[in-house]
Amino acid sequence: MRPARRMRSFKKVKTVLPSGKNVIHFRKKKVGKHKCPCGAKLNRPAMRAVKLGKLPKVQRRSNRPLANLCPKCMKEQLRKRVR
Ligand SMILES: [Zn+2]
Repeated sequence: MRPARRMRSFKKVKTVLPSGKNVIHFRKKKVGKHKCPCGAKLNRPAMRAVKLGKLPKVQRRSNRPLANLCPKCMKEQLRKRVR
């Protein structure tokens, strides 16, 4: 195995070549969807951090305070902080 592919950030896919040879192909693992602590999915693109950095900041996360929470939790948090 190539040293650069020894980490677990690569997914191993066993494939059979047309010649009948069994080989291991390496794929980048899929990135999970962003979630609020309450479990709701956030409307953010799910891609590797390197790719995400190339997007404009507006497309990386929602453009409101507490963007790491879903709108419901944000409302609750804001109320808690005011009180
Ligand atoms: Zn939430």
